[in-house]
Amino acid sequence: MELWDYARLSEDELILRINKARAERNAVILAHNYQRLQIQDIADFLGDSLQLAKKATRVDADVIVFCGVMFMAEVAAILNPDKTVLIPEIQAGCPLAAGATAEDIIQLKRKYPDFVVVTYVNSTAETKAVSDITCTSSNSVEVINSFPPHRGIIFVPDKNLCRYAKLQSGRDNIICWDSNCYVHDRLTIQDLKQAKSKYPDATIIVHPECPPDVQDAADFIFSTGGMYKYAKEHQDETIVLGTEIGLIERIRNEFPKVKVYPMSEKAICSNMKLITLPKVARSLEQNMYKVEVPENVAQRAKMAIEQMLEVK
Ligand code: SF4
Repeated sequence: MELWDYARLSEDELILRINKARAERNAVILAHNYQRLQIQDIADFLGDSLQLAKKATRVDADVIVFCGVMFMAEVAAILNPDKTVLIPEIQAGCPLAAGATAEDIIQLKRKYPDFVVVTYVNSTAETKAVSDITCTSSNSVEVINSFPPHRGIIFVPDKNLCRYAKLQSGRDNIICWDSNCYVHDRLTIQDLKQAKSKYPDATIIVHPECPPDVQDAADFIFSTGGMYKYAKEHQDETIVLGTEIGLIERIRNEFPKVKVYPMSEKAICSNMKLITLPKVARSLEQNMYKVEVPENVAQRAKMAIEQMLEVK
């Protein structure tokens, strides 16, 4: 069957096929918070990058279907060399992950040989392989603080997350790479002010990939996992979230009482939205697309990821 054959099936038919293939293949579906609602609904586990990376170390399955972008599926493949890891759309890359290459890091290490390289998980396997440790948006400060204060740090690739971690850790010996996530970086202070005037009682929470002025004007700065937890624990509040709209859909779906609004309707990650139900059905039935990381890269990247998972 070609993709267009799957696309002609109804949602119910697709879900039936997905469930059948999932059971037959002993597969699990892991999905990021930014996935479409239809994908969230069929996922066995939903979460942010750190939650998904941890989950990937514990899944009892032969096949992992990763509904997210390529770097996330690579992490699952690196942590599960004996399992089949599939991504339903091979083009689902992350522009931020492409923002710093392994060669960029090698050059920086030559310039600053005593510095530790802390790499955001939103990076390629090759970039992780030349890094000392990875971090996510929910543990960047803890990862940085796991090194002695005098150790210089090179932080790649997101400059806004780097600036946040720098402020929170109180260290100025951190070199930030100059890339960003187009979804969060284009949220503006005007978006925040408009949301505030529309919902004056709202708690404003933004992602650390947002620009500095947006972070500074927010009530809280949380990863998507932190935003979800806040909404779950404050269901009587009005909340405005400065992040991708998939998370807002998830919160509305799970906690209908919460009044949650996006800071901007434009905050859509088109890369995440490339994953669709027809593609998930095809992925499970036709083993597409297998995520394979070369062994020498995987081994070194795994050390950097495991180093992060050990940080409390
Ligand atoms: S939201 Fe940003 S960081 Fe996340 S996958 Fe999309 S482009 Fe990459």
